Amino acid sequence: MTARVDEVCYRDAYARTAEARVLEVASADGPPLVVLDSTLFYPGGGGQPSDRGLILRAADGRSWTVRAAKRIGGEIVHELDAPDDGELPAAGDRVRIDVEWARRYALMRTHTALHALCGVVWRDYGALVTGGNMEPGAGRMDFEFETMSGDLVGEIEAKVNDELRHARDVRVNVLPRDEAFAIPDLIRTRINLLPEGIEQIRTIEIVGLDLQADGGTHVANTSEVGGIRVTGYESKGRINKRIRLELTDPEA
Ligand SMILES: [Zn+2]
Repeated sequence: MTARVDEVCYRDAYARTAEARVLEVASADGPPLVVLDSTLFYPGGGGQPSDRGLILRAADGRSWTVRAAKRIGGEIVHELDAPDDGELPAAGDRVRIDVEWARRYALMRTHTALHALCGVVWRDYGALVTGGNMEPGAGRMDFEFETMSGDLVGEIEAKVNDELRHARDVRVNVLPRDEAFAIPDLIRTRINLLPEGIEQIRTIEIVGLDLQADGGTHVANTSEVGGIRVTGYESKGRINKRIRLELTDPEA
């Protein structure tokens, strides 16, 4: 079965505006929901929040604010702010979609910085990632990292910044499940917890540093991230430790 929605963000994270057609509109209970035949919006997941932006109707220029996107029944759905006059787009309408780009791009840089952190922590300390979360310009990662200390955190920050400065390419790949399972490094991201039904595994590689199964959006080269600062670390138990970071040049 071919999906009826073209999900652009997974192959082109830099697409910020596009044309689309409205497939379906629902507003029975809760906020209005719109399905488009093509979307640039990331629906959230893996610690990365969903995009925000606008839908603009081609025929009359009427626009609606997209306050979030989410995956419902396997499809990306756009959640709109309910307009005062109650008017919604209709199935068949041609629209332009605009992702709130400054926010999305900050998330791409932040997400890539977190991968660089994972890469360094795995390579140099052998610590597994157990979770993570981010907002534009700041994020956190949890590790199974019994020996982490304040001294180590400073060392990790310097190493991550060094890796980012190396201007490493960041590549997206989609692999058949069995091929992905054959990559030893992917196991640390708990790929074995992925549901049975998933046949294709998307991977994000920071060339020479990090390789993970991942669904988010990232920049194409670590030079776009700029630098990071570790803003805190906490023990979440004897073994589990949390590292917080922020981008040091959020305006770049
Ligand atoms: Zn990721």
